Amino acid sequence: MKYVSTRGGMEKIDFKITVFEGLAPDGGLIVPESIPELSESEIEKLKRLSYQELALEIFKYYVSDIKEQDLRTLIKEAYKNFRAKDITPVVKAGDIYILELFHGPTWAFKDIALQFLGVLFEKLLLETDKKINILGATSGDTGSAAIYGVKGKKNIAIFILHPYKKVSEVQALMMTTVTDPNVYNLAIEGTFDDCQAIVKSIFMDLEFKKRYRLTSVNSINWARIMAQMVYYFWAYFRICEKEKCDSIRVSVPTGNFGDIFAGYLARKMLGEKRIERLILATNENDILCRFVNNGDYSLREVKPTISPSMDIQVASNFERYLYYFYGENPQKTKDTMERFAKEKTIKFSEQEIDRVKKDFLSTSVNQKETMETIKEFYEETGYILDPHTAVGVRAGLKFKEGYPLVCLATAHPAKFPETVNKALEFSIKLPKEIEKLYNLPQKFEILPADTEKVKTFISQKAI
Ligand SMILES: *Cc1c(COP(=O)(O)O)cnc(C)c1O
Repeated sequence: MKYVSTRGGMEKIDFKITVFEGLAPDGGLIVPESIPELSESEIEKLKRLSYQELALEIFKYYVSDIKEQDLRTLIKEAYKNFRAKDITPVVKAGDIYILELFHGPTWAFKDIALQFLGVLFEKLLLETDKKINILGATSGDTGSAAIYGVKGKKNIAIFILHPYKKVSEVQALMMTTVTDPNVYNLAIEGTFDDCQAIVKSIFMDLEFKKRYRLTSVNSINWARIMAQMVYYFWAYFRICEKEKCDSIRVSVPTGNFGDIFAGYLARKMLGEKRIERLILATNENDILCRFVNNGDYSLREVKPTISPSMDIQVASNFERYLYYFYGENPQKTKDTMERFAKEKTIKFSEQEIDRVKKDFLSTSVNQKETMETIKEFYEETGYILDPHTAVGVRAGLKFKEGYPLVCLATAHPAKFPETVNKALEFSIKLPKEIEKLYNLPQKFEILPADTEKVKTFISQKAI
């Protein structure tokens, strides 16, 4: 499999090259040159595989430049630190299913992709004797998942900026208690926007970027999307063997369109009849919901909510969907995205909206509804949802319409205890692994919100 740009201006590249690339050089996103649509017999063969075997079979369609045996070893290594034997267990709660994606080291779904990306980075760097320094800003989940993905790995150092005292206590501890010598937590005296602005301006200094071989691990990385496709297959197989069904709906709490885009590709591979529709659940930051329901993709201010990992307006993977929506037409994708960059809005026609609605159903869930859902779902089923998952469950129940429904649980409730305790009106018990974090030694640097100071720090510690 070769890879192309959604804007058509890039020579075809191999999988191994995509792993270290963010944007394509023409400003587009990297996509496989085709998405295989599986035959009945191919799907039949995937049904009874373990999670890791399933991942291998799916990755093989997209990775032709790593030997099968090596890929198998990488997958085994990536998932060895998960607490659940099934990696992403499907559990029943009331009359819906919950796909638990939070059994990795940082208790949220980003581990599924970033644990794999970490081992993949290390292997490819050792092969070519290269070193990289990863730089990123986080408001919580991505930073800790990236740190756990690469901690202790050879030829990699990681620098993660977070706003000092402005991320939840558990989220901060998950980063600062990692004391491996290749991990640097920079607590910035400022907001998350300051952290992002600093990272952005450092990446724009091309000379600095090149000298320190700076790399990002953001949600547009193709290998991350690929790793996330696996659990959609997994959920479909587990539910249909229980329900003796051949069609399900999947509800996905969405911010950057990364997770749900992986679902969109899994649906292409499995066939639209198997995943009848994807339910796109947003919080009050509802640009994607307005897109699906009214054809209105226009930028508004970001509003902070109790599901902070979805507080996003520009969904960085949206361009990939657009590319497929336009029948893999790079010119049309390019024109539309360039227009959006200028006008901050895209308007879709009625006919186009009808087509979008064949893929997605969507609703936006406000904070009051999210709190109610945590409480009511617990009272009805005994299952405790985190605020992100609650957004997905609320939307999912609205659109169940008789289908077997699975909702993606993107974080464990113990990651957001303040909100969950308030919703439930009692204090949830924290898992012992999280409780332990409060007593571990911490390692972080406090720096002012000053790009030059951050650059100086990186230049002293980079490998
Ligand atoms: C990142 C994140 C999301 C949103 O995922 P996207 O791929 O950005 O749509 C949802 N829930 C949690 C807990 C997250 O960390």
